Amino acid sequence: MQEQIIRTEKLNITSQLAASVAHEIRSPLTSIKGFLQLMLHNAEGKNKGYLEISMAELKRAEYIINDFLNFAKPQIETVEVFTICQILNQIKESVFTFAQTNNVKLDVNSEQNLWIQADQFKIKQALIYIIKNSIEASMISQGQVSIKAYRKLNKVCIQICDNGTGMTSEELMRLGTPFYSTKTNGTGLGLMVAFRIIQAVSGKLEFQSVKGKGTTALVIFPAVADHK
Ligand code: ADP
Ligand code: MG
Repeated sequence: MQEQIIRTEKLNITSQLAASVAHEIRSPLTSIKGFLQLMLHNAEGKNKGYLEISMAELKRAEYIINDFLNFAKPQIETVEVFTICQILNQIKESVFTFAQTNNVKLDVNSEQNLWIQADQFKIKQALIYIIKNSIEASMISQGQVSIKAYRKLNKVCIQICDNGTGMTSEELMRLGTPFYSTKTNGTGLGLMVAFRIIQAVSGKLEFQSVKGKGTTALVIFPAVADHK
């Protein structure tokens, strides 16, 4: 028992330390980015190429740090009761342009009164990670991402269905493993964060996929009964 407490405490210190290091690294990166941008304006030939690579690498470091901070930052949880419909509307607004510029059709259908109890910000973040993956997987041709939210007995279900690249069973098994990514600009942290957030509220995240056909992600939350 005592050993367990010490181990949890150590873990907290480690994640707090990691979060502050990540946070501190962000500001020098921002100033380097500013100067690189200035230099890029006047650069020509080979130098321009080098600067563009530096910029792309810097952006990658920034993505990793942002995703990592979302994971490690000690946050105050604000647990409240809200509807999934409300959250999906906000998500739709924030990912709509991303889908449109990548020629992916996005449709969202939600039953009303799907109440759940959780930290709204975190749930939104987890769903955005899942939905963005679906958009990214289906941007190659005539992409279609359909999101449906419905009630099934005492559960609230959100189904995110795409007609993208799909995954083999080996690839499916690796989902949620830190730094597992098949994308050039991926961090491989998104689904790890999503799994954690969903499991923390006794929810479930499941994937079904057929390589070359598409993927369906299913998020299941315990429903809050008859909230008015
Ligand atoms: P990232 O998006 O940064 O690569 P994630 O943790 O969000 O990291 O996803 C990990 C990997 O899982 C992705 O690189 C991709 O290979 C795979 N993946 C996740 N969602 C899907 C999906 N809807 N369709 C196909 N592959 C997916
Ligand atoms: Mg992702």
